Parts: sequence; C-alpha cells; structure tokens
Amino acid sequence: MTSTTIDSISNVNCLCKANSYTLLYQGIYNRQVNNYSFSLYKCKNCGLIRVFPIPDISLYTDGYVDSTQDNGEYVPRDKPWCVDLANEIERILSFYSELQKKPVLDVGCNGGELVEQLKARNIQAEGCDVDPVAISYGLKKNLSLFVQDLATQALEQEKYGLIIMNHSLEHIEPAIDVIKNICNALIPGGILQIHVPNYDGWIAKIMKNNWGFLVPQQHIWQFTPETLKYHVESSCPGKVKAVEVCCSTNLEPMGIGLKGLVKRTIISMATKLNKGDEIIATFRKMSDK
Ligand SMILES: [Zn+2]
Repeated sequence: MTSTTIDSISNVNCLCKANSYTLLYQGIYNRQVNNYSFSLYKCKNCGLIRVFPIPDISLYTDGYVDSTQDNGEYVPRDKPWCVDLANEIERILSFYSELQKKPVLDVGCNGGELVEQLKARNIQAEGCDVDPVAISYGLKKNLSLFVQDLATQALEQEKYGLIIMNHSLEHIEPAIDVIKNICNALIPGGILQIHVPNYDGWIAKIMKNNWGFLVPQQHIWQFTPETLKYHVESSCPGKVKAVEVCCSTNLEPMGIGLKGLVKRTIISMATKLNKGDEIIATFRKMSDK
C-alpha cells in the first residue's frame, strides 16, 4: 500500500477549502491491516473529519485491494448487501414513475454486483468504477459497466434517474467534483442516495480505533449526518436538497458471549435512536420548474 508524499495535514485542504484542523484522535488500526498508524483531524471551519495520511488512489486503479487476488483476479463479495440495496432502490423507484424511465447508476460499482441485482428486477442499471480489474470482471457478465474517474471525466448530462454511491464517497479525495458531476448527470427530480459510515454513531465513539468502518488505510473522510448534508448540498448550491438523512442501520458485527450481549444491546439502542454506524442520505435534484 502506498501513501501520498504529503507529510503534513496543513498542506491539504478540507472539502470546504479551509486547511486549519484540530487533532481529534491518533491511533493504530489493526482490522484488515497490521499496525497502521493514523490520525483524525477535524476541520475548524466545517467540522468534517479528515483521515491522515491520505490513502493513495492506486489502491483502486491497480485493482481494489479488497477484491483483487494476488494473481490479479477479481473476487466477488458476498451478495446479501446488494440484494437489500436493490430491494430498496426498487422501492424508491416505485414511488417515482418519472425516474423509472431512466437508468440507475452505481458509482463505485466494483464488479457490478448491485447492477446485476437491479437487472434481475428489470431495472435498467449501469455502474462505473476507477478499478479496471473489477469492471472487466463485470463486463464478462454482460453488465453495463465502465471505467471512469468522475472527478475529471464528465458523465452524460441528465441521463440518470437515480444515482447510488454505496460506501464510495468516503474513499474520494475530490468528493466535491464528483458530486457536481453526478448532479449534472441526474434528471431534474432525480435522486442521489449516499451510504457512508457514520462517525457520529455510538459504535464509532465506543470502539474508537477498533471500529470496523473506520478503515483509515482507505477512507479519506469520516462524515457525520451534518457534514455529509452540508457538503453535498453546497457542492451544487440550490440544485440538490437532502430529503432524508437516516442513521438507523448498523454494519458492525454483533458480538458473542457476555461482551457480545453488551455490544448487541448498545447496537440495538443506537439503531432505535438513529445513532447507528451508517448514514443513508437521500438527496433530490431540484426541478427547474
Ligand atoms: Zn472543512
């Protein structure tokens, strides 16, 4: 794994363009990696949390480390998450007949697992990713996938009815450029749904450097409901509005034994109180009318 050569947090800007931070946390991460030293900095201007050092994009462009084997082959991930997500997208589309006529786009689609699930439900769907290994795997399954860096390459304007970013935004340094691109690619009234880890959740606070969705070796940003809403809406001023921001899901595995009972109790309370460890935010592109 490589890191960028930037050696000081003061040399990098926040999404709000400020570069003044408060050190929030310093620790060692031992889930998926061994002894990874990291720091979390909170922007003094907007409150967004930046992870340091900054992971390098070659984590994805050389074949995503979590899904590419040593021999260079793609390994598909477990399916349950994308079945649930495809059901959720089908439910959203059932409310909006105008969106059903347009394709869905999955940004950061890996090998097209969600696209495949949507296709099985007769929903027209495409996926894009910066990972060429994953895309070439999905193309062999005849899925509509393409390699594209949305920070620099524009999508077709007003092509999509719904765009989903499922745990991809927190991996993207130029997140604002990507959101702008996505906003242009949505039809008026179109929906952008974003799933990211919730740093404001109870599990994140309690587990600190052991939280499974901190992933400092990959994540660039840690969002809270407020910072996510602020940055998405301000990427496209007056054009995109949050319609629902919900934190009632949990990604962290339930524990076992006595310790697990405590963990399960906390997780279930956090879920009820909207302090779960995932933010699911739904934004709508304003109609011009
Ligand atoms: Zn900021």
